[in-house]
This record gives sequence, C-alpha cells and structure tokens, in this order.
Amino acid sequence: MLEKIKVLSKAYAEDTVANRRHLHTHPELSFQEYNTALFVASRLRDMGLAPQEGVADTGVVVMIEGKNPDSRVVALRADMDALPIIEANEVSYKSQNPGVMHACGHDVHTSSLLSTARILNELKDDFEGTVKLIFQPGEEKIPGGASLMIKEGVLQNPTPASILGQHVAPNVPVGKIGFREGMYMASTDELYLTVKGKGGHGAMPDTLIDPILIASHIIVGLQQVISRNRKPAAPSVLSFGKVIANGATNVIPNEVYIEGTFRCMDEEWREEGWKRITKIAQGLAEAMGGSCEVEVRKGYPFLKNHPELTRRTKAAAVAYMGAENVIDLDLWLAGEDFAFYSQVTDACFYRLGTRNEARGIVSGVHTPTFDIDESALEIGPGLMAWLALEELKIS
Ligand SMILES: [Zn+2]
Ligand SMILES: [Zn+2]
Repeated sequence: MLEKIKVLSKAYAEDTVANRRHLHTHPELSFQEYNTALFVASRLRDMGLAPQEGVADTGVVVMIEGKNPDSRVVALRADMDALPIIEANEVSYKSQNPGVMHACGHDVHTSSLLSTARILNELKDDFEGTVKLIFQPGEEKIPGGASLMIKEGVLQNPTPASILGQHVAPNVPVGKIGFREGMYMASTDELYLTVKGKGGHGAMPDTLIDPILIASHIIVGLQQVISRNRKPAAPSVLSFGKVIANGATNVIPNEVYIEGTFRCMDEEWREEGWKRITKIAQGLAEAMGGSCEVEVRKGYPFLKNHPELTRRTKAAAVAYMGAENVIDLDLWLAGEDFAFYSQVTDACFYRLGTRNEARGIVSGVHTPTFDIDESALEIGPGLMAWLALEELKIS
C-alpha cells in the first residue's frame, strides 16, 4: 500500500502543482473563498466524488468511503483563505488579485488535500472505513472558519475518531516533516485599549491629564502580567504592536489608542490573564487621573496535539519518509484555528517542510516574498493519504 501511495502521489504531482498555482494566482480573503470553493468542488466532482458545498458558506466537505465505510472515520483538513498582502514574488503564478496573496501556504494545503482525495479515491477498494475531507474557510480571521465548520456539524454524521491537518513550514527543509505532541500553538486574543486623559498645550502639563504618560506606564506595567503573575512553566506572551497618540511636539492629545496580542497555552490562565490585564490598565490610568477602556477580543484556543494520535501519526510518517526525515518541533506561540478541532476531538497538526535555502526559498509565512519548494507537493498528498489509512486501521 505504502509504495502504491508513493507512486500515485508522484504521478499526480504535476496536477497538484497546477492546482496550487491556479489557487495562488487567484487568492481570496477569509470568508470570501467563493471561487476557491467552486474550484475545489469541481475538481472533486471530476474525480467522481459528491462534495457538500456551502458549509459555513464557503466550506466544502467530501467523504471517501472504502469497504465497510461505518467501521471508522478519519477527518483531514485544509484551509483555503489568503491574506491581505501585496505579493512581491516575480513568478508566473503571481497573485492576480491585487493586495491579496496566499502568503500562508493555504493554496498548498488545499491543492495537497485535493490530490489526497484523488489518491484515496483511487484506492477505495483497498481500505476499510471512511475519510472525511474538510476544506474550510477563514483560518486567518476571527472567529476562525474551523469554529464555524464545527458549529455546522462537520464533526458529526459521521463523527471522525480523529482529525489531521498539515501546514507548510518555511523553517523546515523540504523533504522533512515535523511533529510535536501535546501543547503546540498558542491561544490568540486581541487587546484594544483606549487611554483617556485631557489634552492641551505641551507647555502646560500641570493643567492636563497626559494620556501618553499614562499609556507608557500601562505598557510597562502590563509586562508584570507575564513576568510576575503567570506560572513560569506556562508559556505566554503579551505584545503591543500599535500605539497611536495623535498629538504633536507641543500638543498633548486627549487619548491614546493601543493594540496588542495576548497568547498562552492554558485556558485557565488565559481567563485570569484577561482579568489581570484589565485591572492593571484601569488601575494605573485611574491612579494617574485618567481612565482606560479595555476590550479583549477572544481569538482561537491553544492547539494541543493528542499525544497518542501524534505518536501513531509520527510513527506512520517515519515509515513513509524514513526516520531521518521526521523531526520534532518546538512550541510556537503563533495561533491556528485548527486549535478548535483539537479542543473537541483527537487532533494532530503537523508541518510539511517547504524550505530550500539553495534556491533562496526562505521567507516566512505572512511575508510578501513567501513561497515554497513545490517538490513538497510530491510528498504532502501521499503522506496525508498514508497517515489517514494508517489511522483507519486502529480499532
Ligand atoms: Zn497564516
Ligand atoms: Zn496558515
């Protein structure tokens, strides 16, 4: 079976690359993946499959049934959305949708899963159980397409025993695959603070309430949430990336606006963190005569890879790739909406190496020069098909 899958993955690689390039050329923003969904559904129909369209508006779900289809169900997931980035790569498949770019590799995930569908469909007389393929919208945007797909029942009728997802990794050399058991990625909450004071002439500070000084204290003070309040063993990050104080050299404004992100890997600490952030910001502002409005916009939960499932999947990947090509990943405090699946079912999210230093393919995700070594597309589809079939064998 393993050799059969490898041969098919290689044989379909040209088609996988063509699909990837089509998607890369025509990227669509989160929750606007209408043409992408049409493309995915039509490719699935070309294979003789019967996709369900319009799940959470732009999601597509399809079932591939082997023999004895009710015996066990495994789900595979790809995300389909692109980012508001102007592509800087001069390639034949450069984005033709100005200001929108597949800079997180979701074109790769989608085209790879399409070829996985093709492989599994080809082999459906050779395995038992059902593989449910989920093409979801809106990974990059709160509330996350995954949460909407779950609400629409994608993990029911039939209920998968487990779900696998892959993501490109520009820091992992092409030809290698990365895994991590347990805590892997962080919860992501957005912070919006408005510090209010009383503006006026910069030469008369005694008659004003300076919101810039208050905001400065808040930014420094909030770091104690991470350094003093959090358990040292629990990874957590608090960063501010936007501060607007629209005064001048001699004008103190009425208010200062701050945006930031709070990330962690513990749901209890997450809620405690929100409370501490709010209390410290408001308390500091009040002590200095001003006020502070704090809005926490809840993002994705943290992503945990089910230990046993991850161990099994990793062992299956070793069989497919060779032990020298399977690596362990570090914790990463980025967010990923696959986390929603991981909170409600056994889930494993692994990384597909796409880096090629010799060819200068080294840019990170979410940058205008992000690209992949497309030879990863020879590996991705077959590996995922193999991992799914191995997982179907578990009783
Ligand atoms: Zn991304
Ligand atoms: Zn992504």
